[in-house]
Amino acid sequence: MAVGTSGVHEFGTCCVDLQDAMSGEEFEPLLTVGEDGVLYMSVGLIDLDEEDDDAGMVDHPMFFCPFCGTKLQTVEDVRAKTGDVDEDDED
Ligand SMILES: [Zn+2]
Repeated sequence: MAVGTSGVHEFGTCCVDLQDAMSGEEFEPLLTVGEDGVLYMSVGLIDLDEEDDDAGMVDHPMFFCPFCGTKLQTVEDVRAKTGDVDEDDED
C-alpha cells in the first residue's frame, strides 16, 4: 500500500511525555523523525574526529514509546520506509 503522507507523522500522539521529548524547545531532542518518516532514538555518540567538534549521533529505530509503551511502528514499517528489505517474509 502506498503511503501518501510524506512529511507527516503521528508520532508523539500517544502521550504528552513523548510529545514533549520530541518537541524539545529547551533542549536538543534525542528522539527524531527522519526524512524517511521513521522515528529514531539516539543511543549514543561517536567521536568521528578529534579535530571535529561534530560528534556522530548513533540512531536506532524506536518501535515502542519509552514512556507509555505504545507500539509506534513495526520492523516491517521501518524496513519499508528505509528500503532496507533484503529478505522476503514467508507466509
Ligand atoms: Zn507514549
